[in-house]
Amino acid sequence: MPGKPIIITVGEILVEFVSHQRNCGLEAIAQYSGPYPSGAPAIFLDQAARMGAATEMFGGVGGDGFGRSVLARLEEDHVGIKGVAQSSEFSTGVAFVSYYDDGRRDFIFHLTNTAADNFDVNFDALDLSQVWLHVSAASLGNTRLRTEIMKSVHMVHDAGGKITCDPNARPELMRDAEASAALSEVMTLSSILLPSTSDLAFLFPNLSEIEAIETMLKSEAEIIVLKRGSGGATVVHAGKHFDYPGHSVKEVDPTGAGDCFCGTFISLVAQGFDVCEAGRIANAAGAIAVTRRGPMEGNSNREEIEKFLEDKRVLSA
Ligand code: ATP
Ligand code: MG
Repeated sequence: MPGKPIIITVGEILVEFVSHQRNCGLEAIAQYSGPYPSGAPAIFLDQAARMGAATEMFGGVGGDGFGRSVLARLEEDHVGIKGVAQSSEFSTGVAFVSYYDDGRRDFIFHLTNTAADNFDVNFDALDLSQVWLHVSAASLGNTRLRTEIMKSVHMVHDAGGKITCDPNARPELMRDAEASAALSEVMTLSSILLPSTSDLAFLFPNLSEIEAIETMLKSEAEIIVLKRGSGGATVVHAGKHFDYPGHSVKEVDPTGAGDCFCGTFISLVAQGFDVCEAGRIANAAGAIAVTRRGPMEGNSNREEIEKFLEDKRVLSA
């Protein structure tokens, strides 16, 4: 009798500062707010826990205020934090972001040689055959994280657990030969792939969208989810395509929407939800995520998402 799945991530835990001033990059003196809890794997897992799945995070924070604030949030949202190392030697990782009106954003990450990339993974307490390990592939650009993640991917896969992956195939990641080779390997071993449409352009530059989906389905993947930003999302499973138009919302801070979408979708599928229904709920969760400042502040629970969908129904009736 199969046990209950547990969703895990291995990767960066950060705090983030968000500029309130647009179109000036990170070069101007501006007001910022933060520290907001951040790091793609942490945002993803926080949302997976909020949607009701059992979770365990593997990463590191410093023994400082930033570290305590992000750990407190994860704990409050019932993310398992036994796998999070608290370093007395390194500081918590930090990111800064500033937006432009045309949708571009400038990031500075202080991740290398912080507590965020100085931790060892120990899976002794887990039954790896029940684990769903989600890889947020931007983490593969960091050498230490890549080593821990690839080791973990092979351990989970060999034990019969599942791998899921958000390729986040940014140009800087794809230019790094080791990172891009690691990403290809993770994608081949994944049973659920959740690229955004912009990822496809980097991963499969010469293929149409439908050809790219066919190619991804040739390895282990059973479910492909295409994230289309304000255009919504598409889920492909068992020969069926489910399209979800984007909800009309006021975008305040798009960072984290992809992770929130993935956390919602994977959590529901792991809990046995139908993939079509999981896509509908994740598409709403992603839309809610962009309406709030702060990468993890846009995460939500079932109740909030149902209320959002109900309000949309009333408006369109
Ligand atoms: P990131 O850029 O952080 O990597 P992503 O590209 O992986 O994110 P997006 O496609 O930007 O992911 O967003 C994920 C999902 O959130 C979309 O598929 C959609 O469902 C929802 N979403 C994102 N932006 C908007 C928006 N402006 N309006 C409505 N829904 C949105
Ligand atoms: Mg995006």
